[in-house]
Amino acid sequence: MDYQIKSVKFLKSEVDYKKCPADRLPEVAFIGRSNVGKSSLINMLANHKDLAKTSSKPGKTQTINHYEVDKRWYLVDLPGYGYASISKSMREKWEKMIDNYLRYRKNLQSVFVLVDIRLEPQELDINFINKLGEMGMPFSLVFTKADKIGKNKGAVSVRNFCRKLMETWEDLPPFFVCSSVDGRGKQELLDYIDQINEYYYNQKKQEKE
Ligand code: GDP
Repeated sequence: MDYQIKSVKFLKSEVDYKKCPADRLPEVAFIGRSNVGKSSLINMLANHKDLAKTSSKPGKTQTINHYEVDKRWYLVDLPGYGYASISKSMREKWEKMIDNYLRYRKNLQSVFVLVDIRLEPQELDINFINKLGEMGMPFSLVFTKADKIGKNKGAVSVRNFCRKLMETWEDLPPFFVCSSVDGRGKQELLDYIDQINEYYYNQKKQEKE
């Protein structure tokens, strides 16, 4: 409980999951539509100003970015989806890269899908979530920019999103309501990641015994 990140080291940006850092540590990945607040969220979690580049330009090479945290786990910043101006061939490249990464990255424990709390459920997000579900990949939802909307409206928005998911899925994933401006949700998210890592290391220990 009360886990805080003490050290973060940028390791690598890659397009090929096979060339990502050795899978000796557990990792969690962050993904969402461009502009959802992913960089801001990662910076908040890591107590950094500009660890993850905010608002990276569309059209730039999209990469899988690895950070080593507390010499214990990897934080992975995945390229966002849904750029309006992106070409079909770039979108296909993105899909292939993410698909391979999600399917074959052995040490990936969980994916955080970021969703702007102010928006109605978006087809792109739902499709991506459905794909994770079909793959059997554990994931959680992070509702971002909660400071931009009142508490009640936020709750309605979360409920609408969950309802939409219930059309397809029986169980709802864990979710977090966050703001990089007022720090809401930060501790819950960090403690959840810490739990994931604890579980991973306990499993490892049991395998050895
Ligand atoms: P990314 O493209 O998903 O990495 O999104 P960024 O982190 O670059 O954020 C996109 C824009 O939303 C920027 O102008 C941020 O300042 C703003 N933003 C991000 N998170 C929050 C938040 O929690 N609250 C508010 N009010 N603005 C945010």
